[in-house]
Amino acid sequence: MFDYLIVGAGFAGSVVAERLASQLNKKVLIVDKRPHIAGNAFDHYNEEGILVHKYGPHIFHTNSRDVFDYLSNFTEWRPYEHRVLASVDGQLVPMPINLDTINKLYGLNLTAFEVEGFFQSVAEQVPEVRTSEDVVVSRVGRELYEKFFRNYTRKQWGMDPSELDKSVTSRVPVRSNRDDRYFTDTFQAMPRHGYTAMFEKLLSHPNIKIMLNTDYHEIVDVIPFRKMIFTGPVDEYFDFCYGELPYRSLEFRHQTLEQEVHLPTAVVNFPNEHAYTRVTEFKYLTGQQHPKTSIVYEYPQAEGEPYYPVPKAENAAIYNQYKKLADQIKDVYFAGRLATYKYYNMDQVVAQALTLFKRLKTAQEEKALV
Ligand code: FAD
Ligand code: UDP
Repeated sequence: MFDYLIVGAGFAGSVVAERLASQLNKKVLIVDKRPHIAGNAFDHYNEEGILVHKYGPHIFHTNSRDVFDYLSNFTEWRPYEHRVLASVDGQLVPMPINLDTINKLYGLNLTAFEVEGFFQSVAEQVPEVRTSEDVVVSRVGRELYEKFFRNYTRKQWGMDPSELDKSVTSRVPVRSNRDDRYFTDTFQAMPRHGYTAMFEKLLSHPNIKIMLNTDYHEIVDVIPFRKMIFTGPVDEYFDFCYGELPYRSLEFRHQTLEQEVHLPTAVVNFPNEHAYTRVTEFKYLTGQQHPKTSIVYEYPQAEGEPYYPVPKAENAAIYNQYKKLADQIKDVYFAGRLATYKYYNMDQVVAQALTLFKRLKTAQEEKALV
């Protein structure tokens, strides 16, 4: 009899598994329908020996010391600050939009103070910032919105930014200084030996058994367990009883090139050209030295593996119905990006999983007192 069945070996499932096994001595079975651990963060050495991220570029960044310290038990780190260029009007310019972006794009020589004035002069008055269009036009006006955000978002999400919650484009700041880092978090680093190696350590406790290539439906009635942690899509768990939650998918096209370096930076975004949104060169992320280089193109699509919950009010309303059901069932707990339908980064999923573990621990302690 296992104490816990954990569905999904991504960040959510693996962190809860590790805590339950090492801190509460629970016997855990973790199953994943894919042939590998690490969920969407899975990386591997390709046929040429280059470390690549199978499901697109994963860059670790967080402001949470707790999350960083926790993961540091399972990996060493390689300091890494991510930088992105966008292809706009025939030029490659820094993204997020900053002072240099504006000067390069318009052939100007503004100071930080002047560029803030420029943003204010082009910004549109928006009575209430609600959508992903509102966020951008109210900060940098319509022209920059159209050059950098409108078409990228249409490609990525298959809908206009005016239909998406403001939280989506709010992920990307606008700066009047020359800081060209994509993220400004306190901790920015990559697992030195990759994500999969970190997950191998996370899941190495003898109380944890791993079953891959296994949909949990195949074993749920066969292998006995007391409680379940579910990290797959929440609507699927409840047999879509309130309808399907929309998820956005991507097709990743990987390529290895006979050259040492291909891009001028780790990622180039293409808001207005091509069917793909961005191209990533992995060696920038991993620091690997190799005579060849591997890149990946991301082609957004509606069908396929669910990668992104789609943040908009009507989807949140459907999710809330599922959440009510989820809160009612005893001994099944939901965590992670798909099971809680949240557009979370890795560190947010780790924080959520650690919080769930604390809840389970407290519940056990309270039970012991009765
Ligand atoms: P997942 O990693 O999706 O794990 C869930 C697992 O459950 C999967 O392995 C799945 O196979 C399994 N599963 C589902 N259903 C079943 C079932 N029925 N039976 C058995 N197993 C099942 N975050 C960052 O912080 N930085 C980044 O740069 C970044 N880049 C990203 C780029 C892309 C293209 C994508 C898609 C995401 C990115 N993320 C990034 C987000 C990051 O991938 C997630 O936050 C994190 O991986 C979510 O972990 P999870 O455990 O919730 O879900
Ligand atoms: N975005 C955009 N243009 C860009 C970069 C981002 O319009 O050059 C918008 C787009 O809607 C995207 C969102 O901002 O989905 C969030 O971008 P982020 O880079 O955080 O996306 P992720 O890495 O999660 O795919």
